Amino acid sequence: MLSPREAVRTLPSYHPPLAGRDGLRLDFNENTVGCSPRVLECLRQLGPEQLAKYPERERVEAAVADVLGIAAPELLLTNGVDEAIHLLCETYLEAGDEVLIVVPTYSMYRIYAMAAGAQVIGIPAGKDFVFPGDDVCSRIAPRTRLIAIANPNNPTGAVASAEDLLRIARAAPDAAVLVDEAYFELYGQTMLAARDGLSNLFVARTFSKAYGLAGLRIGVLIGDADQMRAVRRVSSPYNVNAVALACLPDALGDQAYIQQYVSEVRESRARLERALEVSGIQFWPSHANFVLARVGAAASFVEHMRGHGILVRDRSADHGCEGCVRITLGPRAHTDRLLTALQKTVEELGIVQGASGR
Ligand code: PMP
Repeated sequence: MLSPREAVRTLPSYHPPLAGRDGLRLDFNENTVGCSPRVLECLRQLGPEQLAKYPERERVEAAVADVLGIAAPELLLTNGVDEAIHLLCETYLEAGDEVLIVVPTYSMYRIYAMAAGAQVIGIPAGKDFVFPGDDVCSRIAPRTRLIAIANPNNPTGAVASAEDLLRIARAAPDAAVLVDEAYFELYGQTMLAARDGLSNLFVARTFSKAYGLAGLRIGVLIGDADQMRAVRRVSSPYNVNAVALACLPDALGDQAYIQQYVSEVRESRARLERALEVSGIQFWPSHANFVLARVGAAASFVEHMRGHGILVRDRSADHGCEGCVRITLGPRAHTDRLLTALQKTVEELGIVQGASGR
């Protein structure tokens, strides 16, 4: 009888709770207002010819490389960062290899690494989710072939220093070191320019977050040109669809839109952090477009917020996140709604003011 590979049979299934998302979407770190109007205009201009043809990735890649200030062979457009992670696993992992991640973190590193038959080692973050640079370095072994680090991290919003990331890349020359910069626009710091001489260091970016294009599925993987040649071999030549490719130059071209979104989200983050502090709810300062907060009974908090029209994400099953929810930030008007719902939920659940400090 047909049977999946052993690694697939034992793979935990990952089902993000996407169904029935009625309400303000503060649960998936998406842009809550949508993309630049220039992208919408581009969509309106698309004709049947563009849909009939196989998508041509290279021309758009050259344009993106220009914007990022790198050479085109160092870059691959991908079907979101998820595909970039998948491709790195397919390119570098043999069954039995070791993959290092810091927990808690983004789920797909573990899933794709396990699917490739690798052994995933979750290194716990330090107190208050501080990046455990020393612990990561000390776990590097001859079989370590991938180290995946979200910077800023999801769901904590914590960051790793450039020094730690470089130290890890230097200490693991036989491993692909992925710095996942999905929230780069919010954080503003990147390892792109620090890759010189480090052929094992990869950077990933996405258009799913600040750019508001999660539904189009487009991201970028950047790395050493020789390494990227190998990664490209594993990828479908048509991995990014024609609609996403057509829209990307317009999305990148409207940096004023991104700056406006980022400045409103930063302001919203400060407002939420103040409100949490006033309510005595523990939270961790974030460098992304979301905040992790320890509300206690996370499932009923999520339900009460949903009752007030706001979707937030229960993260209480993540390592070290007992009683925690993750709340995505949007612009001002969305934050007004969020804070009203938060106040009501705090009252309904009797979350005691001043019960917990940071
Ligand atoms: N990396 C991180 C750290 C994320 O939080 C997410 C989305 N939740 C992704 C990657 C996935 O990005 P994409 O939509 O580009 O696949």
